[in-house]
Amino acid sequence: MTATTLETTTTTQAATVEFRGLRREFGATVALGGLDLTVRPGEFLALLGPSGCGKTTALRMLAGFEHPDSGEVLVDGVDVTRVPAHRRDAGMVFQSYSLFPHLSARDNVAFGLRMRKVRTAERRSRAAELLELVGLADKGDRFPHQLSGGQQQRIALARALALRPRVLLLDEPLSALDAKVRLTLREEIRRLQQELRITTLFVTHDQEEALSIADRVAVMRAGRLEQCAPPGELYNRPATAFVAEFVGTMSRIPGRLSDGGVEVLGQRLPVDGAAPAASEVDVLVRPEAVQVRAAEDGGARVAATAFLGATVRITVRLADATEVKADLPAHEAAGLAAGTAVSVSLPERPVLVAERPRES
Ligand code: ATP
Repeated sequence: MTATTLETTTTTQAATVEFRGLRREFGATVALGGLDLTVRPGEFLALLGPSGCGKTTALRMLAGFEHPDSGEVLVDGVDVTRVPAHRRDAGMVFQSYSLFPHLSARDNVAFGLRMRKVRTAERRSRAAELLELVGLADKGDRFPHQLSGGQQQRIALARALALRPRVLLLDEPLSALDAKVRLTLREEIRRLQQELRITTLFVTHDQEEALSIADRVAVMRAGRLEQCAPPGELYNRPATAFVAEFVGTMSRIPGRLSDGGVEVLGQRLPVDGAAPAASEVDVLVRPEAVQVRAAEDGGARVAATAFLGATVRITVRLADATEVKADLPAHEAAGLAAGTAVSVSLPERPVLVAERPRES
């Protein structure tokens, strides 16, 4: 994609979007249980969470395809909750490419302009401009079935941008694509968004995708916002055990709370944030924080190793059968083949603790 046509493609002022106390029930299912969230002008915000947590419902409410039982949607401070979808100024891209099969790529891009009775010459020049923006200037005559999945999704993106929307809504736009195309297109979407500075909401259940693409990530759980923060903060300072485990890899190691600290792996460490009421807890640790060294009397063994490139992920089984994942630089992992007796330790830093799940 190129930036050559930006001047004409750039939207008007970037919009602020606010969800205020959005509630929506479908029968007994609470899809949204009071969602409060503000998307800043020009921000790329990812809505992340497990299946069924209400991400798509929230996005559809901003598009105007869904209405809340209570609460409001505001764009630049104006309540649009009752404004019909076609007057919302939102460009939407779905998981399925949803192009019109009987229209060429060019006509798909220009479709919205035709509906708005934009003159033919202007339609054509704008479609050409957008095709170039998404790197498909030479594919305008093709029909959707003559394009790859990634190309179809670029056309869908161009179509969504054609009307210069104030917000861009992306609902799992990459999930139907294979891994490689997915990575390329995700980088392109990010670059395009940064060039256009259009306020963007991106729904995904893939944490890696959310962390790599967004300015901030809003983690949702069961219809509510759990935490909204930039990727680094979400990863390093998760506000809850749910966020800690949903974002990135986390191991749970049994520990015992006492006197404001926690005993774990034979160490005593300070607790980061609030601790649960019970004294038997789990300590949550990232693989890069776990230290492993060969030790005959270490009480643990390497269960498996997986080569990840610069690092090796080692799965260690502790004496009580707990599995702990550790990412070590390849040279440190060299002597730690499966079966090696090891000891495991943690750096002397505060750790996150969570309630230990009940045995089922
Ligand atoms: P996914 O990642 O699986 O798409 P999601 O987080 O986007 O999930 P939503 O599609 O917003 O979740 O759905 C939230 C909940 O509301 C789910 O339990 C879903 O089954 C339910 N739901 C959504 N739309 C409807 C509907 N039209 N009728 C009944 N239930 C619905």
